[in-house]
Amino acid sequence: MDILEQKVRTLVSDKDAIYRLLTFEKDRRGLSSKELVFVGTATVAMYHWCPTKSYMLSRINELKYFTIYLQDRILYSYRLGYINEIPGKLEEKVLDIGNNITLKDVEKILKEKSVKLEEQLKSNITSWTGEEGYKVTVIERSLAIIHYGSIKLAYINPTLKYSVRKKFELKAEELNALIVDFDSFPPKIRGIVLEAMIKEKYPTVRWNFEWNKYVIVAEPDGLTEDIVYEFKTTKNMRTYGEIFKAAEAQADIYGYFFRRKRKKIQTYILSENKLLTINENINKGHAEETLASFLKIDKCREFLKPEKWKCKICELRNKCPAV
Ligand code: SF4
Repeated sequence: MDILEQKVRTLVSDKDAIYRLLTFEKDRRGLSSKELVFVGTATVAMYHWCPTKSYMLSRINELKYFTIYLQDRILYSYRLGYINEIPGKLEEKVLDIGNNITLKDVEKILKEKSVKLEEQLKSNITSWTGEEGYKVTVIERSLAIIHYGSIKLAYINPTLKYSVRKKFELKAEELNALIVDFDSFPPKIRGIVLEAMIKEKYPTVRWNFEWNKYVIVAEPDGLTEDIVYEFKTTKNMRTYGEIFKAAEAQADIYGYFFRRKRKKIQTYILSENKLLTINENINKGHAEETLASFLKIDKCREFLKPEKWKCKICELRNKCPAV
């Protein structure tokens, strides 16, 4: 990491400074500090799951999205050669960095990332260490080995054919790892491991877009010249329909902002061990409708009557104004 990247890290880790910059930025835009401005695409699209949740999570996460916005504008400006230093004095000058970045520039960064991804894909092994101390290694997108202290567990890609599965069972034995099913798997890493195994690999890039009073941070799961790719996992067919509505809106918003024509949405359904794939044109009208609906709930704060089964599994139920 070079000096400028270190400086950006220091800046974004100072929550008070970031909060001051957020207030200053809203003021520059002629908005009150209470106005919701910086939001994320996934949270906005969650409107189709529960409008109240979409609004509440957007409020809770505004500082996070503003931080991402600021960080991307500075680091991309540096990568693109528009700056080589961060001004010593904060406020206006820092907030002005990135004003000249165009979508063409962002596409350039996406191209660089595509080249890096091709290199990474040549290796059949992915590994990482989670914050909780788990060490995870995924081999050939088929076998995950999880080390936690003296425990060594193995989880095999559930979509594999029987004959291929056998090969990885032997590999797990060779590595002295105990094969476990999905439910015995440490919950915190279930989703990440499934993604590492099943989600298709495409390059992607993160950028932010202005719509009405909002700055919307967008980072699809994949972005090629033609398509937006979105991947979800869900428990069963009952939740699938609702998850899909939000995923579809999310992909449409990405396509609308990044100007892509098509979307590919894949949803892995755990109870059925099924991967459903939908390929369709981007529906710009649907993207705009979703954004407008979100704006409406932000302005009116009329929280709709909740669907009880969703509330039962919702982490916000104790502070929700709609229940
Ligand atoms: S508790 Fe129910 S209404 Fe409230 S945010 Fe959660 S799902 Fe939505």
